[in-house]
Amino acid sequence: MRVVLCTLNSRFSHSSLALRYLRATIESDWPDLHLLEFQIKDDLRRITAEIGHLKPDVLAFSCYIWNIQPTLVLATDLKAVFPQMKIVLGGPEVGPRAKELLAQHSAIDFIVQGEGEIAFPALLRAIASRQQPINIAGVYYQTAANSIAGTPPRLVPQEQLPSPYRASDLAELAHKIVYYETSRGCPFRCTYCLSGGDQVRFLPIERVFADLQLLLAANIPLIKFIDRTFNCNPKRALRIMQFLLENRQQSRFHFEICADILDDTMLDFLTQVPADIFQFEIGVQSVNAPTLQAIERRMNWEKLSTNVQRLRAQNNIHLHLDLIAGLPYQDWAAIRTSFDQVIRLQPHMLQLGFLKVLPGTKMAACIDEYGFVISASPPYEVLASKWLTFGELNLLHQIEQLLQNYYNSGLLAYTLPYVWQDASVSPFDWFKRLAHHWQSAGLFQVAHGREALFSHLETYLAPAGTVADLITIDKARCLASFPANFRLPDNYRAGWEDYLQSNLAKFAPRTYKQAWRSVFPVTLQAETLTYLGAPAGSNVAVVDRDKQQIVDFICL
Ligand code: SF4
Repeated sequence: MRVVLCTLNSRFSHSSLALRYLRATIESDWPDLHLLEFQIKDDLRRITAEIGHLKPDVLAFSCYIWNIQPTLVLATDLKAVFPQMKIVLGGPEVGPRAKELLAQHSAIDFIVQGEGEIAFPALLRAIASRQQPINIAGVYYQTAANSIAGTPPRLVPQEQLPSPYRASDLAELAHKIVYYETSRGCPFRCTYCLSGGDQVRFLPIERVFADLQLLLAANIPLIKFIDRTFNCNPKRALRIMQFLLENRQQSRFHFEICADILDDTMLDFLTQVPADIFQFEIGVQSVNAPTLQAIERRMNWEKLSTNVQRLRAQNNIHLHLDLIAGLPYQDWAAIRTSFDQVIRLQPHMLQLGFLKVLPGTKMAACIDEYGFVISASPPYEVLASKWLTFGELNLLHQIEQLLQNYYNSGLLAYTLPYVWQDASVSPFDWFKRLAHHWQSAGLFQVAHGREALFSHLETYLAPAGTVADLITIDKARCLASFPANFRLPDNYRAGWEDYLQSNLAKFAPRTYKQAWRSVFPVTLQAETLTYLGAPAGSNVAVVDRDKQQIVDFICL
């Protein structure tokens, strides 16, 4: 029997962990096995042809919110061409809706609900022996009598999970993000999430080390841990992080962590981690107490903000903080407060997401109570609620776009902290006013490069004084055209040449010529020098494009 495991990843750089787990559970029984990964933007006709060329007996799709629509198109078209082909769907987007999807889509033969590592091999054995998958936990199907049957899923004991990766994968994964989990389940129960509520089950630590050793030896550039709360067991988390540091070559690591439960031992360790090796994604979602209560999310904001500030001060770990717009009890004033408090922690990235009401969640049962208007198709985003109108949510989307353009891009890393330094200035209002300007200037309709982003900002701000100086520093850091447009004042030339010659070691391994093209003396006004803490007597900031920052202050 030929089996094809398939998914549509959201980007080329992504890879599917789920398919590799399934492959490991079935490859010894079904060696005629093919693992196909596409992207959601790939041409569906081409994908249909590629799968059809293999003529699988069983075609299994791993389904997520981002790929369910094209997956259903593929399933329908392939079933029309190959009516004998058995089509199986699994994954978080289909499990909770198994009965509904089977009733609506005759192309689907089976849906695996929950974890598939035991259910899927059992289903394949049933298909091969032409049996109905009666009593296989987690498998739903159409019966001969045209009704839907199925058995609720069971969790897979962690010691029964195979290692998902094998040595022959590594060349193909060398330029991709590789996902790995050391545990399943989450101790929290946020009402909008499908992952919460299950007891956390940990893989044996020696198994984790063996799996990671394989990936580290292959020098995988970025390993993303998809444990829902990586540090829910602090001692274990620390052991794994220490192992990663001790055994890595060039690999970097991304973790989803809960920042308010970081203890002093962990914080002491984290502040010693060399720069740019760890990335943390920290879900704040909201700081509004009634909202947190409604979504059943436990979070100690005081502790979280203190810990984030401590990590941020060290600046060795990339900090990505999340907020969600559209949550219950979060009106315009509440989202403004959350936004301002979180962005004032100066995360390297602030993601303003929008609530998705996923089928099967506790939140989905409250649609009427919360006055939610929800998009009918995935990702089921909230379009309006009792607390935010459709227009307000649209404006929040515009703010989110400007947040990406000007904050998360790092374009204004020097300018924005100055603009917002006065505690009475609301960063949220600053973005709101910029959004109104962009809207009236028709700027949201087209994409903009970095040059255009600076140009639009300067038109809007008409910068002078320190703001103008800081924008020049940010342009020196970020604009590809800056070197060509930069004019060194004639009276600076001799001094600048001397400085570069005598400080060349600072810019190694660049040669003198290369440093000349990537390090710039930017003249600043006295008030800007004071704001930046420049030593008395200096008049110029030395901006290093490669390091993206001011590296010195000098007098020319
Ligand atoms: S949102 Fe995060 S913390 Fe909350 S239940 Fe889901 S995985 Fe757990």
